[in-house]
Amino acid sequence: MIEVLNYGYVRLVESMGTDLSIVRSARVSYNCAPRNDGSDDKLIKYLLVNNHTSPFESVVFTFEVRAPIFVLRQWHRHRTWSFNEVSARYTELPDEMYIPDADKIGYQSTSSKQAREIENKRSPEEAEFIRQHIEAVRLHSFNTYRVLLDTYNVPRELARTVLPVSTYSSMFASVDLHNLLHFLKLRLHEHAQHEIRVYAEALLKLIEPIVPITIKYWREINSI
Ligand SMILES: Cc1cc2nc3c(=O)[nH]c(=O)nc-3n(C[C@H](O)[C@H](O)[C@H](O)COP(=O)(O)OP(=O)(O)OC[C@H]3O[C@@H](n4cnc5c(N)ncnc54)[C@H](O)[C@@H]3O)c2cc1C
Repeated sequence: MIEVLNYGYVRLVESMGTDLSIVRSARVSYNCAPRNDGSDDKLIKYLLVNNHTSPFESVVFTFEVRAPIFVLRQWHRHRTWSFNEVSARYTELPDEMYIPDADKIGYQSTSSKQAREIENKRSPEEAEFIRQHIEAVRLHSFNTYRVLLDTYNVPRELARTVLPVSTYSSMFASVDLHNLLHFLKLRLHEHAQHEIRVYAEALLKLIEPIVPITIKYWREINSI
């Protein structure tokens, strides 16, 4: 398990396949046995370079992810994944909300409408003031949530509507290696929001020992 942000984590629940599964799938028309003479590695590189993608679908992962709702919302745009997320209709959400570290606040980018200049640091006093404002929202939202549930017996599906998108939620998420590499390319990119990039970095760390040859050449080809 790798901890991410203030309350989040990514855990590899299970996986099917290794680099050899990719080689076996690609050699379906020939002798599928591993060759161990360097040609297996070369084949993986060839498949990556030439976008011969389907053999990479023979490796599959399931992760458990705990992340702020706004991160999950970006993640769910990746339609090639399968998701099951905690339902706040069934269960109450714990009082856990994402509050950025002082050095991760930055400023709205002037060159990109969607980005932030994270390297442009604020003074510690100003950063702390911003964090306290966010913390005040957490207190107000979760106090209201508890009052709605405990005092007025408001249904969970309505009470949750007062919680901000920075509230943490959890999901199981399954994906094959081909589509995971696509996700990583997009979400490790500097255009991706910092808060999802750190999850992408954790995913990459978790899968690297399982498919080391693929990741080696994938990093090389994509300069990652
Ligand atoms: C930096 C960044 C900024 C973004 N900003 C926004 C934004 O402002 N607003 C917004 O709504 N989204 C935004 N997105 C989400 C983005 O538009 C994609 O929905 C998301 O990245 C998933 O990519 P994907 O469709 O390639 O992946 P997947 O959904 O996993 O699909 C993988 C591939 O399968 C194929 N595919 C999947 N579904 C279809 C289909 N229905 N038809 C044809 N081919 C399909 C495509 O080749 C696709 O690349 C942003 C993404 C990034 C990385």
